[in-house]
Amino acid sequence: MKIISNPKELKEYLKNNDKTIGFVPTMGALHEGHLSLIKEAIAENELVVVSIFVNPTQFLKGEDLDSYPRKDEADKKICSLSGVDILFFPHANDIYGEDEVSVIAPNVRGYVLEGMSRPGHFNGVLTVVMKLLNIVEPTNAYFGKKDAQQLNLITLMVKQLFMSVNIVAVDTARESDGLAMSSRNVYLSKDERVEALKISSSLQIAFGMVTKGILDSDEIIVKMREKLSGLEISYVEILSREFEIIRHVEIGNSVILVEAKVGDTRLLDNIWL
Ligand code: AMP
Repeated sequence: MKIISNPKELKEYLKNNDKTIGFVPTMGALHEGHLSLIKEAIAENELVVVSIFVNPTQFLKGEDLDSYPRKDEADKKICSLSGVDILFFPHANDIYGEDEVSVIAPNVRGYVLEGMSRPGHFNGVLTVVMKLLNIVEPTNAYFGKKDAQQLNLITLMVKQLFMSVNIVAVDTARESDGLAMSSRNVYLSKDERVEALKISSSLQIAFGMVTKGILDSDEIIVKMREKLSGLEISYVEILSREFEIIRHVEIGNSVILVEAKVGDTRLLDNIWL
C-alpha cells in the first residue's frame, strides 16, 4: 500500500491511470462500518484509494475537533491488510489555504436536522468532499447510509454541479446488539453505551410498526420518542428519500432518522424503508 499526503503527488500518481478507481473518504479511527465501504470499493473497482482526514471545517467551535479519536498507526495497518492500494493522509495545510472558495449547502436541506444543531457543518463537509473528489477523480465514491443527510447532500452536489463520479450508498454496519458503529462510540461510558441502545431500539420499534401496516408518521414518532425518553433528542423525523417530510411512510421511499445526545456524545442513526 502506498501512503501519500500531498494532493499534487496523488494527482500525479493517478494521472494516466486507466483503471476504475474506488474512493472511500473517512476521518479515520476505522471500524467495521468503514471496512464495509472499503470491501465494497475493493469488490467493484480495480484500484482503491482511502483517505483519512479529520476535516477541521466541518467542526463547529466547541466541538470535538481536538479530541476526535485518532488511531493513525492502527488505521494504516487496517487499510494495508484489507487490500487498499493507496492511503491518502493529508495534513490540514495540504488541503486548505487562506480565504478559500467553498461549497455552500442549500438552505432547505443543509440547515435542517443535523444542519440545524450544527449550522455550517455541511458547508465544511461538501467543501472537503469536493476537494477530495477533485484530487482523486474516482469512478465510484463510497458513503455510509448512516450519515443519511450527508449522503443526500453529496448526491445532490454531484448531480447539481454535473460531476461525473458515481456515488455509492452503503448499508449501516452495527454492533451485535444493534448500536450503529461510529468512531464516536469510544466516548461512551459503560452506562451510556447501554442508554445509546435506545436509539437503534427506537428504529426497530418503527420498523415493527411499519411491518404491521402502521404507516402514520406522527403515530410512529410518538412511539419512538417514548423509547428515547431520558436522552436529549435533537430530532426524530420521517422523510422521503428526497428528504421531504412525509405524513405516511412510503415503503421503498422513506428514511426514519434520529439524532440524540447520550451524555455529551451526539449519535445518529436511521433506517431506510
Ligand atoms: P467518518 O469517518 O465518520 O467521517 O465516516 C466515513 C464514512 O464511513 C462515511 O461515509 C460514513 O457514512 C461511513 N460510516 C460511518 N459509520 C458507518 C457505519 N456504521 N456503517 C456504514 N458506514 C459508516
